[in-house]
Amino acid sequence: MGYQAYQYRLYPNAQQEKDLLNLFAVARHYYHMCLDLWRYTYQTEKRRPTSPEFEAMRKGYKKTIPAAKNVHSHVFQGLAKRAENAFQGFFRRVKAGEKPGYPRYKSADRFHSIEFKQFGTGVAIDGRRVRISGIGRVRVRWHRQMAGVVKTAQIVQKAGQWFVVFTCEVPDQPELPKTRQVIGLDLGVTALFTTSDGAKVDHPQFYQKSQKKLRVLNRALARKKEGGKNRRKAKRRLQRHHHHIKNQRRDYAHKLSYTLVKHYDLIALEELKVKNMVRNKHLSKSILDAGWSIFTQLLTNKAVDAGRQVIVVNPAYTSKTCSNCGALFEDLTLADRWVECRCGLSLDRDHNAAINILNRALPLGRRGEAERSGQSRRKRASEAPTARHGERHTTPNNRFINS
Ligand SMILES: [Zn+2]
Repeated sequence: MGYQAYQYRLYPNAQQEKDLLNLFAVARHYYHMCLDLWRYTYQTEKRRPTSPEFEAMRKGYKKTIPAAKNVHSHVFQGLAKRAENAFQGFFRRVKAGEKPGYPRYKSADRFHSIEFKQFGTGVAIDGRRVRISGIGRVRVRWHRQMAGVVKTAQIVQKAGQWFVVFTCEVPDQPELPKTRQVIGLDLGVTALFTTSDGAKVDHPQFYQKSQKKLRVLNRALARKKEGGKNRRKAKRRLQRHHHHIKNQRRDYAHKLSYTLVKHYDLIALEELKVKNMVRNKHLSKSILDAGWSIFTQLLTNKAVDAGRQVIVVNPAYTSKTCSNCGALFEDLTLADRWVECRCGLSLDRDHNAAINILNRALPLGRRGEAERSGQSRRKRASEAPTARHGERHTTPNNRFINS
């Protein structure tokens, strides 16, 4: 069984919105109390807080805070769970010697959601509307059909808009039939990726547009007076734009990764390094980073579901090695977009890198066979890509564009 989340926009009326804001204020306050309880027991008694302690705190809280009286008990339980996860994460990071990141209070801007662990109790579907405990029946835009069995619900606030997210249990997807095709991808700055077949997929046009708008909105925000109403509005607009970019990026990555997973049994990538890459004149580092990470993440998830292999290889020298004979291009600079080798190879730099990436990922068994048959290392390097991909200088296959 797998899980699938469905998000729908909520349209609360004025009173409901006021109640939702109150609910979130109470939830945030209580979350901070849970953090405090953890901190207290951990620091003074060197132990974790117990369930009866949380239970007692919840009861006392409901008695003392009037706004908490009608809040569903699952909300409190969800917040206690969240505080626990925050501390467990902290302990794990300390143990692993990473940056600890002590669990902190959250500002209202960073407190986005509350959970109902059991659909049907605190949150339920009531006709065309969603009924939220303590809030009432809220109008919803059901823009897509849900599948599976609804398990949990979340109420989410993003940049002044409200959403409900249902998590459904869905049966596992059947694995895709094998295609016997393999591909290597070089993720990059000038193109989102270049394949070992020589196809290039550009960074989407909207990156540039949204980046420009971000700059405008940021400047507008900087001009507004601290603490004022206009500043709050400008901040909203900026947040909303961030969400918009995130959605667009996700859609784009979904489509691309779907196409790749459908066509290839094995997809090779290199481990994303903080490359000392030439900077893209038009796109900022953060925009590029976000684009790569969502793409690789979705690609990996989809591959697992479909029974495909994504292999991440060591990125060392993938650009500087001749994919035909294995020679090193010692003096290759970041500005060189084309590689030429004494062996006769003449290729786009990223195309060459993508072939190297694919070669590194090909099953060891295949390399072993070549070794046994007494071929030299040189020969082997030249065979893997040629045998699988035919002529090097074929017109790029543009399966990814507009598909
Ligand atoms: Zn060569």
